[in-house]
Amino acid sequence: MDKYFAADFAEARVKFLKAAEVADVPLWQFDHPLTGPSGEALGTDIVWLGAQDARNIVVAGSATHGIEGFCGSGCQTGFLTENWKSRLEAGTALVLVHANNPHGFAHQRRVNEDNIDLNRNFIDFDAETPDSPGYADLHPALVPEAWDGPVREAADAVIDAYKAREGLPAFQQVTSRGQYTFPNGLFFGGTGPSWSRLTIEGFARAHLAQAERIAVVDFHTGLGPRGYGEVIGRGGPGDPQYERTVAWYGPDVKSAAVGNSASVRLSGTIDFGYRRACPHAEQTAITLEFGTLPLEEVHAAIRADNWLYAIGGAETSPHFKSIKAQMRAAFYGEDSQWKKDIWARGQDIVEKALNGVGG
Ligand SMILES: [Zn+2]
Repeated sequence: MDKYFAADFAEARVKFLKAAEVADVPLWQFDHPLTGPSGEALGTDIVWLGAQDARNIVVAGSATHGIEGFCGSGCQTGFLTENWKSRLEAGTALVLVHANNPHGFAHQRRVNEDNIDLNRNFIDFDAETPDSPGYADLHPALVPEAWDGPVREAADAVIDAYKAREGLPAFQQVTSRGQYTFPNGLFFGGTGPSWSRLTIEGFARAHLAQAERIAVVDFHTGLGPRGYGEVIGRGGPGDPQYERTVAWYGPDVKSAAVGNSASVRLSGTIDFGYRRACPHAEQTAITLEFGTLPLEEVHAAIRADNWLYAIGGAETSPHFKSIKAQMRAAFYGEDSQWKKDIWARGQDIVEKALNGVGG
């Protein structure tokens, strides 16, 4: 099982493609215009398990948040290697989208090539962009001009004072709900559809148009208890999508709308892309969120990585290595037990999605 998980994007891609070849499944490849840290090609690879005219479809995606892709990629390679194709009921298909954000995965960043948080990018850019009250006040402290010395100390003091005054949940809410006004800031949603969004919506329009029911299972890491996979649904009690989510996955489903989730309420998550592309399908979307380190450590890594590229000169910075190590620890469990937990829960959830969507 350890062998499903990779050490970097290039290895993850090779494992996935190799497993796809052995499983003999249809494959679509979308080349990304940029390259990885060693000059390697980047791309999103999509495979289809089951009948191509299936009406009930589970889409299991990885790496919406780049570096978080180690987790979902491992499970996707596992589904191919353990021949999940043979388990599917007639009329049900499993579509694996390998690396929604390949650039972030390869460069071990959460964001994409444009500093966009992909899970804030699927909004309607023709309408007014969502407000992000409170973010502007914190932005200068979140993105300090220097990482050492008095400038950094002053910035940290602002953040500590904010947390002490407003509480950690308020800090998480204000910084991570998504903002559309500071392109070099944290949790930036973009000013238009990203390469990844255009790729995913294009694929969905071309190949999922016949779907009557779509279940989206998007693999993430970095929130909640270590190794545990929290199912984060959409909406709340009374909302048909939420009720289906509870019926399929069980009573421990969480939702930001209910207020019991490790995540804050978001607009522009990836499921809105599938909804836009397939407006006639009944959709049941979840984020499957696996814990790694405590929230404040994860947030500190995100802030450091954002600083590294916004101000610090990326690869040329003396902080490059340590910040990359910080990011990896924040988003990849690496140890065998973590991988075992991820693989067990990943199988359980995707099986439930297949049963649910198949009725
Ligand atoms: Zn994520």
